[in-house]
Amino acid sequence: MTRLPTLFLSHGSPMHAVDAGGAGQAWRALADSLPKPRAILIASAHWETALPMLTGAAKLETIHDFGGFPAELYKIRYDAPGSPELANEAAALLRAADMTPSVNACRGLDHGAWVPLKWMYPERDVPVVQLSVQPHLGTAHHLALGRALAPLTQRDVLVIGSGHVTHNLRDWSTSRGASATLPYVTQFAGWLEQKLEARDVEAVLGYRDQAPGAARAHPTDEHFLPLFVALGAAGPTPVAERVYDATEGAALAMDAYRFTQAA
Ligand code: ZN
Repeated sequence: MTRLPTLFLSHGSPMHAVDAGGAGQAWRALADSLPKPRAILIASAHWETALPMLTGAAKLETIHDFGGFPAELYKIRYDAPGSPELANEAAALLRAADMTPSVNACRGLDHGAWVPLKWMYPERDVPVVQLSVQPHLGTAHHLALGRALAPLTQRDVLVIGSGHVTHNLRDWSTSRGASATLPYVTQFAGWLEQKLEARDVEAVLGYRDQAPGAARAHPTDEHFLPLFVALGAAGPTPVAERVYDATEGAALAMDAYRFTQAA
């Protein structure tokens, strides 16, 4: 049975909707390297809920969940169809794993989801379901979420986590225009690659205590948690490959990962 890989993407600033540079090319190349999925399930850092929630609308609104950006950004729509069917299928898998998901018939896609998808699938013909994150439940919960959803990868569904490898907006705004990447960003991103390559899932789960610069790389957890959804959904022994490696400004690591199940 074929199993689709899963992806973790660093979605960048909302300006990536207009010009995603190398990241946009990498996202497109990733999509082109895969068979076209029947649907996409994407966990975004920008939807935080108490319990797992899935978008269940057949038509998804494009949410412009940011302020102070150029007007052209607010005109962009990513009007791919939703998939109430996949939302219900995913909810059933989560219930089978003793979780309490719900399907939200109103919510649309936030920029964590639609910015990378706009570059990956510009034809907007692949149905999308978004999954929320639960920051108060921590890393292990999100790995469990991914593991519960792993059967979807064998049903032609592409599972994506959309967050950031490092995400300190204060550093991003104060260091814009700086030419050199802040040292902790490189250290944290390198540590992550090394631990994922060594398949040391325990270390990554404990990143806040173990990774160099963790508290500065992630003042709050929400942008790191979608990584665990992608990692868990890849299967019991995921093999990680860093497929994109760059920094936005001096502080936002834009790295992307592809996870496949070990043969
Ligand atoms: Zn974000």
